[in-house]
Amino acid sequence: MISLRAEELLDTTIHSLIIPGDKVAHVNVKNNLEHALLVLTKTGYTAIPVLDSAFKLCGLIGTNMIMDSILGLERIEFEKLEEIKVEEVMNSEIPRLKLTDSASKALDLSIDHPFICVENEEGTFEGIFTRRVILKQLKSHMNKLNK
Ligand code: AMP
Repeated sequence: MISLRAEELLDTTIHSLIIPGDKVAHVNVKNNLEHALLVLTKTGYTAIPVLDSAFKLCGLIGTNMIMDSILGLERIEFEKLEEIKVEEVMNSEIPRLKLTDSASKALDLSIDHPFICVENEEGTFEGIFTRRVILKQLKSHMNKLNK
């Protein structure tokens, strides 16, 4: 990825700053929670995007949502993991970015969200914008200022 000056970075579209969809771990809305928990545990991420079979962005699922949905009064009801579908538990009220949005808008959203899902005009998932990527760009800019 190229390094940009701060103003250029904030004015630029997020297109070149996203992790593309084919490199992003995700689950399908119709998967059960057992599968989602496996993907989350294996990848080490606490939340990942939820897509439908047409690759449209539906929401996010995180370990906390899964654990909360199987918490009984006296025990964790692990047997429910197989029965419950991702779509019943996911958060669909998520911030979304378009490929044409500015890095400045993405930076604002990054204050409250570790990553933001990016979609195209048709709502098809394109990838994610992460705090790590924008922080790396800002660090590289600051290093240049100090030289
Ligand atoms: P980072 O800024 O790299 O620490 O990523 C922040 C969050 O973005 C992670 O905790 C994950 O929830 C999500 N994330 C980053 N990279 C990926 C990926 N390749 N696949 C799925 N989720 C990811």
